[in-house]
Amino acid sequence: MSQVFHRHCHTPLRTAVRGDGVYIYDQNGKAYLDASGGAAVSCLGHSHAGVRAALHRQIDQLAYAHSSFFTTDVAETLATRLTDRAPGDLNHVYFLSGGSEAVEAALKLARQYFVERGEHQRVRFIARRQSYHGNTLGALAVGGNAWRRAPFAPLLTPAEHIAPCYAYRDRRPDETLFDYGQRVANELEQSLLTVGPETVIAFVAEPVVGATAGALTAVEGYYTRIREICDRYGVLLILDEVMCGMGRTGTLFAHEQEGIHADIVTVAKGLGAGYQPIGAMIASDTLYDTIADGSGFFQHGHTYMAHATAMAGSLAVLDALEQEQILARVNPMGEALMSRLKARFAEHPHVGDIRGRGLFQALELVFDRETKRPFDPRSKLDSRIKSAAMALGLMCYPMAGTIDGHRGHHILLAPPFIITESQLDELTDKLAEALDTAIAAVIE
Ligand code: PLP
Repeated sequence: MSQVFHRHCHTPLRTAVRGDGVYIYDQNGKAYLDASGGAAVSCLGHSHAGVRAALHRQIDQLAYAHSSFFTTDVAETLATRLTDRAPGDLNHVYFLSGGSEAVEAALKLARQYFVERGEHQRVRFIARRQSYHGNTLGALAVGGNAWRRAPFAPLLTPAEHIAPCYAYRDRRPDETLFDYGQRVANELEQSLLTVGPETVIAFVAEPVVGATAGALTAVEGYYTRIREICDRYGVLLILDEVMCGMGRTGTLFAHEQEGIHADIVTVAKGLGAGYQPIGAMIASDTLYDTIADGSGFFQHGHTYMAHATAMAGSLAVLDALEQEQILARVNPMGEALMSRLKARFAEHPHVGDIRGRGLFQALELVFDRETKRPFDPRSKLDSRIKSAAMALGLMCYPMAGTIDGHRGHHILLAPPFIITESQLDELTDKLAEALDTAIAAVIE
């Protein structure tokens, strides 16, 4: 019996021993095509030579120095590189060790900003029902999955949840996409007016929803309206790009494509590409200045903040994305993936929607295409697909949406940006076979 406390206590796991390019190899030498980048992490694939060399150099020089004693050149350079590329006045990077830590820091910074201004009555967040923001208590409170929150409900920060922008399911037949986007964005205003806008700290959203809804993009105009509402009521906008950021949707920051600015953005996953655990919260001038000119101290922190080796690894990831033109591959390879998915699944009786942006794409699965009725969540279709795919040597990311108010299953695809056309063929072939095997077991 394993002494590792695995999350699923009764599901045996294969042992991963080696990674190379888009493949991970297990203890028997079997190769798995990493079509999900783990959980949308491995944007450069496994074993990138430049990142490995940068990590070795940094460890030889200085692995770690506690951030209350020192800054490092790698942290300063990485912060400059990120803020040079971030939209608006997101000029202050707070380095952490993962996505939940980044979201937690964002929630606390937003609250402290209002406390410094004397607005102590701002105590709640508004977020969306199909969303995931992490598993620490603050991040869990804003996340949309009620079943994830349920055991911890008495411990959570107050948060309201409104509908996400989910045109495939919620647009009325007589509504244009634009009108639908305005209607659903206006739910934010209604929610603010219900709870009292003066009690709200921030609205939190993933620009492209990842794990809980499958590469769900907003319709044009939605985020512009969201920004207008936040401005009108003096509420902050926190965009969580932990999954969709760092090039995954074709631009370094996903919200660049929405033409809006955020008060805080969180990134993680692709920032370290899996080579080091790292996350970051990037804050606007206004937020930073309020703290700097007020108490002068952000009341938050962790031991491994701005860890030198993680900084060096992440800088090498950014170098690879930009200098080796790896980021430039995302849109063309994304189109190549989308055209294969459409060719293979557009007529599939159980694929209701094929969507996404860049190399962040998903199939939404339905029992019935006409009515869009989802498969029963008790069918465990998601874990069946995962097992069937792993047996075929494919890693993909099937999920059961939010089980409360169940909106269906989907399979998220987020392959490394270095993936080639022939590997996309392999991905599509194996995915089709895994899907059919799993569905056959469910409907027989
Ligand atoms: N935010 C989003 C959008 C995520 O997808 C995730 C993880 O999947 C998190 C936050 C939490 O990140 P982590 O698992 O690194 O704590």
